[in-house]
Amino acid sequence: MVLSSKAMGIAPSVTLKITALAKQMRQEGHDVVGFGAGEPDFDTPQNVIEAAKVALDAGHTRYTPASGLPALKAAVAQRLSHKYGLVYAPEDIVISNGAKHSLFNAFAALLNPGDEVIIPVPYWLTYPELVRMSDGVPVYVQTDDSFKMTAAQLRAALTGKTKALILNSPSNPCGTVYTRQELEEIAAVAVEAGIVVVSDEIYDELIYEGEHVSIASLGKQIKEQTILVNGLSKTYAMTGWRIGYTASSREIAKVMGAYQSHAASNANSIAQHAAIEALTGPQDTIQIMRDAFDKRRKMLCGLIDQVEGLSCIVPSGAFYVMMDIKGVIGKTCDGVPITGSLDFSQMLLEKKQTAVIPGEAFGADNYVRLSYAISEQNINKGLERIGEFVRSLKP
Ligand code: PLP
Repeated sequence: MVLSSKAMGIAPSVTLKITALAKQMRQEGHDVVGFGAGEPDFDTPQNVIEAAKVALDAGHTRYTPASGLPALKAAVAQRLSHKYGLVYAPEDIVISNGAKHSLFNAFAALLNPGDEVIIPVPYWLTYPELVRMSDGVPVYVQTDDSFKMTAAQLRAALTGKTKALILNSPSNPCGTVYTRQELEEIAAVAVEAGIVVVSDEIYDELIYEGEHVSIASLGKQIKEQTILVNGLSKTYAMTGWRIGYTASSREIAKVMGAYQSHAASNANSIAQHAAIEALTGPQDTIQIMRDAFDKRRKMLCGLIDQVEGLSCIVPSGAFYVMMDIKGVIGKTCDGVPITGSLDFSQMLLEKKQTAVIPGEAFGADNYVRLSYAISEQNINKGLERIGEFVRSLKP
């Protein structure tokens, strides 16, 4: 059978290889420490769970408008106004099945075949695939060790086909947070070039140093050109509920809403009701989660720095650390050379039952990603094992 060449060209996630191996080892009874987690290890707040129960009992079990419940759109608009001074009408908001779906809608609405989308490296591994799914062409911008793309680098990557730029601050996988000034400079280039900024702000509440600046808040024109993407997965520990949203110009929102109405109809009705409570109810669980992540972040980075050959840039946000493994690439494990992040991750898992995500998946083969959405006890145990592994390598 001849399947769609476009669909066949979508790469399966590199991370799955390690994750599947780790799972198999656990099933075989091994004590695996997993640094792969892409979700908070906290429970959804109780008030949100109660709101879902109330919604069920009240019979909110039917279709909602495809682009979301008006009350949820209003809650999103209120949040963006309160936090960033951004004024959106409910009609500018589209509620989707997670931020990943929102991003999918954004590229579907924007791209014609051959349109280029600029992606700073390292990137969240889903971005290039989403661009390709909508017939776009990913254009990578290599950043330096700060992991931040400068306005000059953006300008140099522009061509006549550039349609959009993806910004992700705080970022997955680096935890990088762009400053206001950096964003102002990037916004100026985007406005001058007339390109759209797809701004993935899913980690906006998980910041430990500095502040989150929403690029859309930097001026009327950049707001018009930005598709702001966010969701409830990370901030409210609601990954399984699948609620994401966009805020954009009305014109783009309409196209995304129409696209979604045929592809998926609405996001789950109960989850939407719960999301209203998450956004408008007590917010104290965010600070509790943030404090715990901050403590683990410092602990993890401190432990990495103690291992000769390893280092990291202390991240300012999200819950990931990119661990620099340049110092061990080329060394051997049982006579086999470590040629890159995939070798490192596989050998570490086999020898020390510790799972990390190879940086190759994010376009950064000199690094591996460690998530600190795991207990302090496991962070300690995992870093002890990583240290033993690195010390056992031969030149
Ligand atoms: N954007 C980034 C940078 C992410 O790391 C993730 C999840 O890992 C998402 C978007 C998608 O989140 P969700 O679809 O759960 O809302």
